[in-house]
Amino acid sequence: NNSTPPNFIKNIITEDLKSGKVQTVVTRFPPEPNGYLHIGHAKAIWINFTLADEFGGRTHLRFDDTNPVKEDVEYVNSIKEDVKWLGFEWEELHFASDYFEEMYNRAVLLIKKGKAYVDDLSADQIRELRGTLTEPGQNSPYRDRSVEENLDLFARMRAGEFKDGEKVLRAKIDMASPNINLRDPVIYRIVHATHHNTGDKWCIYPMYAFAHPLEDAIEGVTHSLCTLEFEEQRPFYDWTIAETEMPKVPHQYEFGRLNLLQTVTSKRKLKMLVDEGYVDGWDDPRMPTISGLRRRGVTPEAIKAFVYEAGISKAYGSIDPKTLEHFIREDLKLRAPRTMAVLDPLKVVITNYPEGQTEMLEAENNSENPEMGNRQIPFSREIYIEREDFMENPPSKYFRLFPGNEVRLKHAYFIKCNDVIKNADGNVVEIHCTYDPETKSGSGFTGRKVKGTIHWVDASAAVPAEFRLYEPLIMDEEADEDTIEEKSFLDLVNPNSLTVVHGFVEPGLKDAKPQDKFQFFRHGYFNVDTKYSEPGKPVFNLVVSLKSSFQL
Ligand code: ATP
Ligand code: MG
Ligand code: MG
Repeated sequence: NNSTPPNFIKNIITEDLKSGKVQTVVTRFPPEPNGYLHIGHAKAIWINFTLADEFGGRTHLRFDDTNPVKEDVEYVNSIKEDVKWLGFEWEELHFASDYFEEMYNRAVLLIKKGKAYVDDLSADQIRELRGTLTEPGQNSPYRDRSVEENLDLFARMRAGEFKDGEKVLRAKIDMASPNINLRDPVIYRIVHATHHNTGDKWCIYPMYAFAHPLEDAIEGVTHSLCTLEFEEQRPFYDWTIAETEMPKVPHQYEFGRLNLLQTVTSKRKLKMLVDEGYVDGWDDPRMPTISGLRRRGVTPEAIKAFVYEAGISKAYGSIDPKTLEHFIREDLKLRAPRTMAVLDPLKVVITNYPEGQTEMLEAENNSENPEMGNRQIPFSREIYIEREDFMENPPSKYFRLFPGNEVRLKHAYFIKCNDVIKNADGNVVEIHCTYDPETKSGSGFTGRKVKGTIHWVDASAAVPAEFRLYEPLIMDEEADEDTIEEKSFLDLVNPNSLTVVHGFVEPGLKDAKPQDKFQFFRHGYFNVDTKYSEPGKPVFNLVVSLKSSFQL
């Protein structure tokens, strides 16, 4: 889908073009390269790229890299890869840090106009004097420094004469403003750190709230789309553009974030999961990162269908991950070949099948998509079935294999259980069955019916495989990013979020490549893992199970 559903931003853009206020729509996706992108970012990416595209405009990828301490090229590269993988192409690639000189000059302009001053108060003192929602703030004793003194001090801040935190540059607006963001916000701070792009050239860095509008204006962004928590920042955004006399005037619009229940997305929390070894990296298939979803086996199409469904509005509400699962199934349904895998093998010997003989059986690759054709699967005297598909003493309504009962082997024959072989501990190690050659799948046999159909793989031809089964990382089904506290969230981590089992797949899957996707009959959708899979030794990630009571 290459458009957005009806939404308020689209209406605004339509108006702006009609009135001539805007000639070409320019949007940007502005991640800070301090972590990997997550599903929430996918929504922001989709909104920016799709909206601009709908109006023949353009979108920039801009790294908002104004905080040298947390940023890294590793993140820059992963972000580029993720945006491309989602299927979007940026028209221009920018780094906010390329504008540091211009930003500095605009700050100097503010000083010259008497609209900014150097403050010697500490961060704590500044916070104390800022006031509250009900109480106005108080002026800093340094607020009335002369323009000359401010110019001199700011130049010396840049020159590295002061230590971190010793001085800041503040906008001079109104300490009594009902909007706390307008109470002389800090716009520059001292940070002696090496920047991934500018190295040691700078030791003062602009604050996000000041830098962002300037970045937008420099690039000619027309519609600066961000999430709702920036709404209160909009007056300062507009103040910055006006007072720094930027020739091009961007406008900020806010939409509701995408949050998923049972999921944390903040980079700080995700980083804790990575750093403390709860997951095996930012791209662990349990992570809500784009790279985690990719490794899990989720496709860009499923993600885009999901964010389309989530829509663009100012409404707040967390989405049930089952909604995402629904779109994953919908997307994989017609494109994933349907094959058989046994995750917990139990050997079955078909005693009346000739020893040493193998026949090839015809199996359709996708019953809902005939275009995917057929394949041949081997069948012989020994096969594996799922351990849970056999019970020695079954309850009523158990229609799978038990002594004396007959079931259908998918794509093969009816088999009947005659004997159970146990080891010294009394555990079932093998069962003996007979098959009925008359009942061959596709032969049109109607002589009698069986209630259960089970899957299997040929024991001698089957390929050993590892299966990695996932449960949600966070156990609380009602919790989301906003309700899960950073200090306690590791207690919510599900100790059973990963289960590794070993079983078998059909021989045709021996050379499955990383990112190949399959439906395993009765189990769910699986994706060949990019990290652990080796040629001839496939490792499969559970993407999503088949069962869902969820209906849109
Ligand atoms: P986090 O708070 O999760 O660490 P962030 O907001 O700091 O992420 P940025 O790199 O600053 O991450 O985000 C880039 C863009 O993505 C911003 O415009 C931001 O509004 C948007 N964005 C981030 N999270 C979400 C979300 N959950 N839903 C929609 N948009 C989001
Ligand atoms: Mg951020
Ligand atoms: Mg944030």
